[in-house]
Amino acid sequence: MKVAFVSSEVYPFIKTGGLADVAYSLPKALQEIGHEVAVFLPKYRVLKQELLENIELATEVDVHGKRFYIECVKYDFVTYYLVHEPSLYQNDKIYESFNQDYEFAIFSDVVLKSLEHLGFQADVIHCNDWQTGLIPFFLTQRYSHQPFYKEMSSVYTIHNLRFQGQFSSHAIRSLGYEYLDEQINYMKTGILHAKAISTVSPTYAKEILTDFYGEGLNHVLQQRQNDLFGIVNGIDIKFFDPTQDAYLVSGYNDQSLSIKSVNKSGLQIRHGLEISEDVPLIGIVTRFDSQKGLDLIMEVIEEILYHKEAQIFILGSGEKKYEDYFQTLRDRYPSQLGVYFGYNEALAHLVYGASDLFLMPSLYEPCGLSQLISLRYGTIPVVRETGGLNDTVQSYREDTKEGNGFTFTNYNAHDMLYTIRRGISYYHQKDIWHELQVKGMRGDYSWDHSAQQYVDVYRHILANK
Ligand code: ADP
Repeated sequence: MKVAFVSSEVYPFIKTGGLADVAYSLPKALQEIGHEVAVFLPKYRVLKQELLENIELATEVDVHGKRFYIECVKYDFVTYYLVHEPSLYQNDKIYESFNQDYEFAIFSDVVLKSLEHLGFQADVIHCNDWQTGLIPFFLTQRYSHQPFYKEMSSVYTIHNLRFQGQFSSHAIRSLGYEYLDEQINYMKTGILHAKAISTVSPTYAKEILTDFYGEGLNHVLQQRQNDLFGIVNGIDIKFFDPTQDAYLVSGYNDQSLSIKSVNKSGLQIRHGLEISEDVPLIGIVTRFDSQKGLDLIMEVIEEILYHKEAQIFILGSGEKKYEDYFQTLRDRYPSQLGVYFGYNEALAHLVYGASDLFLMPSLYEPCGLSQLISLRYGTIPVVRETGGLNDTVQSYREDTKEGNGFTFTNYNAHDMLYTIRRGISYYHQKDIWHELQVKGMRGDYSWDHSAQQYVDVYRHILANK
């Protein structure tokens, strides 16, 4: 099967969140199981330049009086097409341009048009999040009428329903598309026009049909419920591999878990925490956004520090109010709380490797990758039962030995605190803890299974065309 995969961010070219990880790993996984994939993204000025050394011009496309250069580069055996127009995509941060509505509308149009120029007759165009939500609409309104595009179908994947791209419809009308309303919601447009819709976990697929999680689009999603699928993300298990992770102080596997503590003391030393194996270390790696449950953490974290029940290390960036709070707390408990504000891949790996527990009490979580990475590093997740967290972490039961972490249901700080304490109590029962770690490390978090599920969705829509 031929798949055109379109994303506004792709690791390692440019990343602001989990979408970039998926846009890197899923195409690679699809290719590994025998499909031909081409990935399309805008050629932002801020792309990682060292990856573009062997870039070549593949074709040129004229849209709306502008000439676009479709430039091709290979990375890790996957073909990337970068959509280049010298006056567009020039901002320092990729979603801060004042004319994003136009930039992503024209990007969508150019991607479609370039398929024919490239001779890439995709079976499926796989679109992601609001930035590419117009593609299914453009495909049905204009391109499907042309012989080259007649058999093409589109799949639209929602990675985070909160960000929808709501604009005046001027941009798409300027590109010659018929649209009656003055306003347009790019995400809603994708949902309405794609042949199938998917989101990144089965639980989130159900949650977004409700008022609480639906972000105002639950009724639209309900209309498309029969075409809505939930497929859990995988992680790149070579990149996140505790046996050979260059960012760790020392690698380890499920047979040599005692070495994991070398990473813990390494982090403790580097960040001025008390060096101790007896006290559990709770890791947090996150965007500082209310979505991530940081308000619950702020409510009760001091109780843990005050009673010296655990050490905590927080790596994150985003909203300043969280930074300020954690910094103040760090100043009060310098030997128990470590903080680092900013985006730091190397430190993230060390936190996953060094921590005993990983805390992720999200208000909502479409899939979540951090809990999967933690499990792979023998770090036991404490999560709220929402979205992908609910699909990937099951609460430990001592009677049946089932479960791989600790979970709580309600968005409530004291329920979270209780669950953290439950985790801490098992940390001190070394046999049980070791069993939990080994179970986590042996889980399959690769893309193999999920990539196959996407192929099943592609086959399903092609069969029902
Ligand atoms: P989201 O996409 O909502 O931010 P995910 O859990 O799906 O959350 O993915 C987040 C990814 O970004 C994980 O790989 C996590 O390790 C990484 N990450 C988040 N914050 C940071 C940070 N400050 N430094 C390094 N990596 C981070």
